[in-house]
Amino acid sequence: MSTASSLPGPTRDHLEWPFFEERHHRFAAEVDAFAKSGVMASIDHADVDGACRKLVKALGDAELLTAATGSSDSEPLIDSRMVCLGRETLAWHDGLADFAFAMQGLGTGAIGLSGSPELRSAVLPKVRSGDWLAAFALSEKDAGSDVAAMSCTARLDGDHYILDGEKTWISNGGIADVYTVFARTGEAPGTRGISAFVVFADDPGFSIAERIEVIAPHPLATIRFDNCRIPASRRLGAPGEGFKIAMRTLDIFRASVAAAGLGFARRALDEALAHARSRPMFGAALADLQLTQAALGDMATGIDAAALLTYRAAWRRDVQHLPTTREAAMAKMTATETAQSVIDRAVQLFGGRGVKSGEITEKLYREIRALRIYEGATEVQKLIVARELLKTK
Ligand SMILES: Cc1cc2nc3c(=O)[nH]c(=O)nc-3n(C[C@H](O)[C@H](O)[C@H](O)COP(=O)(O)OP(=O)(O)OC[C@H]3O[C@@H](n4cnc5c(N)ncnc54)[C@H](O)[C@@H]3O)c2cc1C
Repeated sequence: MSTASSLPGPTRDHLEWPFFEERHHRFAAEVDAFAKSGVMASIDHADVDGACRKLVKALGDAELLTAATGSSDSEPLIDSRMVCLGRETLAWHDGLADFAFAMQGLGTGAIGLSGSPELRSAVLPKVRSGDWLAAFALSEKDAGSDVAAMSCTARLDGDHYILDGEKTWISNGGIADVYTVFARTGEAPGTRGISAFVVFADDPGFSIAERIEVIAPHPLATIRFDNCRIPASRRLGAPGEGFKIAMRTLDIFRASVAAAGLGFARRALDEALAHARSRPMFGAALADLQLTQAALGDMATGIDAAALLTYRAAWRRDVQHLPTTREAAMAKMTATETAQSVIDRAVQLFGGRGVKSGEITEKLYREIRALRIYEGATEVQKLIVARELLKTK
């Protein structure tokens, strides 16, 4: 998606809600200014890998990646509202910029949560500065929604682990310098026998098996471990704790997927409003027709409802320090499903122009789709919410 827009930028009215502090206002304004800067405009999106590297470096130089990776290596403290505002604002402007920002956080979240001080200081500053790109490798060909079916293994051999197997759908796969990898160590059956590791792209036995192209181009790959030998000190947390670490990481970043959906949805609504006002029809404007107004009313209400759930989840984690498994799942499914519907209505309001290649509505339509699938499909989020409900007395 291009940063170029005739619109002034995303509205920030929702920052008046009680979830936010002054620093959040400042951060949202900084990210917006970055997205409108010449740096962003100069990045050629035709070369997706190159664009991603440049975006990450530019975000690092602008000191915006601290929000995604945490502010200190000794106690990485991710402010969920910052991550969400960063993603929402970048997504409004440019899907690839949102992706670049988000992956630096998702790719290192587990290191911040469970890495040794040595591992944190070896990795986090380089990812925060944008010198290194990060990735999160959980999914496999036959283990997507069903993580427990994972077959990639890590076997202890003296003071090293040896990894074997493949991971697929790995964002930043092929261009990342550091991967957080989940593999079966076998302490117990199912999810209790998985551990987490840090693998570097130049580790012996690590390779890229295949690059994957998707409807909204992002760097994506299947990665392979073939007798890949890494020091045991690269394990995150205790043996068998990997699933828990993955879920704790996803609890933080799921709310941010919701925020990215919000950014895409807000852009679609802003574009739809501008179009409906200016498109002459039946002797008036498209915006004067009541069916158009009904669509706009539904779009705006859906966005606010999704935003309330998103920032409720982020605020609960940041301020109340309470678990957010249920809240993040509610936010993710509502915001991404709402965004899909809002964008579809924007396409409809644009008429034929809405599906023309290169139009903003067409780009948003492609960009939103994967968000309803990755980091847990909508169906999985519903089950998470129900499971949390059934746990309560
Ligand atoms: C663009 C993109 C980027 C990604 N990036 C990453 C990444 O960086 N790292 C990573 O590890 N993974 C990544 N993924 C993988 C993603 O997390 C998986 O695609 C997702 O978890 C679904 O797994 P799957 O594709 O194997 O589908 P499956 O598990 O086969 O599920 C297919 C469908 O079944 C339905 N379903 C699932 N569970 C149930 C249920 N219990 N009951 C009924 N229906 C159900 C859902 O509709 C789901 O979409 C990415 C995926 C995409 C598309």
